[in-house]
Amino acid sequence: MIRVDNLHKNFGNLEVLKGVSLEVKKGEVLVIIGPSGSGKSTILRCINLLEEPTKGDIYIEGEKINDKKADINKIRQKVGMVFQHFNLFPNMTAIDNITLAPVKVKKIDKKDAEDIAINLLKKVGLEDKRDSYPVKLSGGQKQRLAIARALAMQPDVMLFDEPTSALDPEMVKEVLNVMKELANEGMTMIVVTHEMGFAREVADRVIFVDDGMIVEEGTPKEVFENPKNPRTKEFFSKIL
Ligand code: ADP
Ligand code: MG
Repeated sequence: MIRVDNLHKNFGNLEVLKGVSLEVKKGEVLVIIGPSGSGKSTILRCINLLEEPTKGDIYIEGEKINDKKADINKIRQKVGMVFQHFNLFPNMTAIDNITLAPVKVKKIDKKDAEDIAINLLKKVGLEDKRDSYPVKLSGGQKQRLAIARALAMQPDVMLFDEPTSALDPEMVKEVLNVMKELANEGMTMIVVTHEMGFAREVADRVIFVDDGMIVEEGTPKEVFENPKNPRTKEFFSKIL
């Protein structure tokens, strides 16, 4: 479903990604862990072309996306993204947040888009919030709305960038539960997170990124119980 080949990203003189290669199969959940500033967000942002790779190739379903001929809008439709800080449209109700892109970008009939949105609101447990503005929602509700909004485009892949890092502790679980359900339904997902319980339970594979490189990769059991790289061990000793 996704193949990243020798991805490099520089910001000016700063070399942020130094040759990252990874693969995610259809229906797989890949969890990316690693210290702050190691390049995790940049990897995700390259995969949905919010950043342009400096070098290397990214393929989604066999199509090279960092290609001059690639249709960026079509690619972005395949890849849903959920951010740490929700990035909802503050001046729109919950349901309008969800229907905007399907109507504007996918040209779906407004009524059909609303039917889809109502089902998605139910799915994330927000059916009673359809007419609420984001400011009236808790952090956990905002993030569940952001997930519903991304799903409305019927993406093939979902990218999550620390989706629970900005939440109060009591709201983390409700968001992780929605993500678990998605994984169980077979969604292909890449999740950057510090939630090690989620990684252990849901991830098919875990990669540890340090200083712009993948320094460790394996099943959750392999990475958590028997980390080989000293930097992975040091990271765990700080957070676990
Ligand atoms: P992580 O998500 O692992 O915390 P990031 O991918 O956000 O790391 O950032 C990796 C490095 O790239 C950091 O040093 C960050 O300051 C730098 N960086 C990220 N985005 C930009 C940008 N748009 N311009 C300049 N530097 C950036
Ligand atoms: Mg980040």
